[in-house]
Amino acid sequence: MVNFPGISGLFFDEDLLIRQGSKGVYGISIPDCGLKDSEIEKTPKDYINKKFIRKKPPRLPEVSEPTVVRHFVRLSSWNMCVDSVFYPLGSCTMKYNPKINELIASLDNIKNLHPLTPIHLVQPVLKIIHDFNLILCELTGLDEFSFSPQAGAAGEFTGLKVIKKYYDLKGEKRDTILIPDSAHGTNPASSALAGFTPVEIKTGANGHIEAKDVERYLSENVAAIMLTNPNTLGIFEKDIKKISEIIHKNGSLVYMDGANFNAFLGNVKVSDMGIDIIQLNLHKTFSTPHGGGGPGSGAVGVRGFLKDYLPVPYVSFNDGNYNLSEDKRQTIGRIAPFLCNFGVLLKAYVYILSLGNDNISAVSEIAILNANYIKKRLGKVLNGADPFEDKLCMHECVFTDKALEDNGISTLELAKLLIDYGFHPPTVYFPKNIHGAIMIEPTETESIKTMDRFLKAIEKIGFKTKKPAALKSPRKTKVKRVNEVLANKHPIFKY
Ligand SMILES: *Cc1c(COP(=O)(O)O)cnc(C)c1O
Repeated sequence: MVNFPGISGLFFDEDLLIRQGSKGVYGISIPDCGLKDSEIEKTPKDYINKKFIRKKPPRLPEVSEPTVVRHFVRLSSWNMCVDSVFYPLGSCTMKYNPKINELIASLDNIKNLHPLTPIHLVQPVLKIIHDFNLILCELTGLDEFSFSPQAGAAGEFTGLKVIKKYYDLKGEKRDTILIPDSAHGTNPASSALAGFTPVEIKTGANGHIEAKDVERYLSENVAAIMLTNPNTLGIFEKDIKKISEIIHKNGSLVYMDGANFNAFLGNVKVSDMGIDIIQLNLHKTFSTPHGGGGPGSGAVGVRGFLKDYLPVPYVSFNDGNYNLSEDKRQTIGRIAPFLCNFGVLLKAYVYILSLGNDNISAVSEIAILNANYIKKRLGKVLNGADPFEDKLCMHECVFTDKALEDNGISTLELAKLLIDYGFHPPTVYFPKNIHGAIMIEPTETESIKTMDRFLKAIEKIGFKTKKPAALKSPRKTKVKRVNEVLANKHPIFKY
């Protein structure tokens, strides 16, 4: 398999850390404070309310520093990551993360920053947050961003709460959110959580929402439409301006799930599409590493008339001083314990500044070029499997399992076999409206060589692999095929 990165070799067996410990082993030694026990007047126990003191010591691993380091490094080698493999997981924007971001975010005075540090000592930090807001406003054409939400879905929830507050204060009872079937799965969930009823709109045959279809769903109950643009089929909502006009005429708002901002960053402003409110996933578009649930930042941006509803606290700038303010009278309140996930925000800020005004638009241009390269080439290989063959895509492309099925290989087997070839699988079986969906997002950081190898691997898997071998894949990983349904329904977290 010399043409592919492949997987072979060095996987270590690894026991639970708790089983590797021995009583009395420490990772660090604290110097003797020089006092005898009889000289110590009070121990920590004397300062803590008795009800909070454990009866028994916690069951923690007692291990040395090298044991801990080896444990986690070994475990990390069982998994794939953007630093080791091509990771074309659709709708996740798993781009390479430049190391300069990490370097800056891990400077001592940044990583050790306490959230309760007095304001006059963190002026530069507040300035970064303040300036970052201005940059995002410039990139989107919106008027203010809040950095409280710590994930994309938390951003959606925050945005929907803002919408709720807006109508509550207007005295309008609007409880419906229109959501296309090509939206991300978190959209209906966030709507329900924020107290709305999600109503599904069917995507047209062209892969986008038709303005005339939206009209049929309108009523005085509609609070907003929630569009993912480009949608999860990788297609730009062509009618977006018209849809916004219709929605606004109905007295409703336009929410955009902007997690796929990588597709038009620096080329189109969302304000020109008529968007009132958006969340941007800093941890996708702006290269901050993510996966496995965090850390993230789902920055929420709004037009001026919604500013007052955004969460508190926020950074203000008066008389040459930056401050943390809480004085938004109509705020939805706090979304997070402190201001924001600053490390994530800083990495995004460094990423934008290191590209600069001249290069930022190249991100989306190359992301689209790469996705279309895969779409065209793979469309030929998987003949008849591209439901939007005659169209260009944006940041990602989607195929059905049609061509593979004829050869007895399912989408699932393709995904598992790709791991043996040394590629992270694409997103599979999503969106649900595409049969056996294979959804590929290469991002702008991949070379044509890497993409060619990936395409070749799919060709080999799809047309030269025998079904019995495919069913047993992945065979070269540390953990082989798992029963995913069982693992989801009856997860075992404890040994
Ligand atoms: C990833 C994604 C989300 C959810 O973001 P999280 O940070 O995982 O909560 C929402 N919408 C779209 C379109 C996405 O791609």
